[in-house]
Amino acid sequence: MPVIRQIAQMGHPVLRQISVSIPDPTDSAIRVLNEDLLATIRYSHGVGIAAPQVFESLRMVIIASRPNPRYPHAPEMDPTTLINPELLWTSEEVESGWEGCLSIPGMRGLIPRHLSVGACFQTLAGEKREVEFTGFPARVFQHEFDHLNGLLFIDRLESLHNLLTEQEFVRRTE
Ligand code: ZN
Repeated sequence: MPVIRQIAQMGHPVLRQISVSIPDPTDSAIRVLNEDLLATIRYSHGVGIAAPQVFESLRMVIIASRPNPRYPHAPEMDPTTLINPELLWTSEEVESGWEGCLSIPGMRGLIPRHLSVGACFQTLAGEKREVEFTGFPARVFQHEFDHLNGLLFIDRLESLHNLLTEQEFVRRTE
C-alpha cells in the first residue's frame, strides 16, 4: 500500500539542498517512492511533486496536472514521472502565472516562467525519453525542477507585492 508522505515545509534544509542523481531508476526503492509520491499528490491536491519535498534528496519529479480544488483550471494529463530530468531548452516567451507549493501552504506567488520547455529524463524502466511541455504543465515542470536545485517559487518573485495569502488569491480570482 502506498504511503501518504509528510511534506517538508519551507525552512527545512532538505528543500535547499541540491538533490543527487538516481543511479538505477529501476531500483525497487524508487518504484515504492514513486507510488508514495503519487498517493501524496492525490491526497494533497497537488499538480506536481519533487522527491526532496518528502525528505528524499533525489532527482525525481512527478508532473500530474489535473483540475482539483487548489487548481480548478489545471488541464488533465496522465501523471508523468521524470527521473534525473535535464532541461534541454526553454522558449524565449515568458508568462507570469500564479503558483502555490505544498511546502509553502497558504501562499500563492505570481511567477514568470518560460511558456515551453524541453527536457530529457529517464523512466521508471530506465529508458531515456525526451518531452516537451507547454503552458501550465511547463510551469509545473519548471517549479518541480527548481526543487531539485534547492529553489522555491519565492526565489523567483519579481516583487513581494506578487506574494498573496491563499484567501486573498481566492478573493481576487473568484
Ligand atoms: Zn513546490
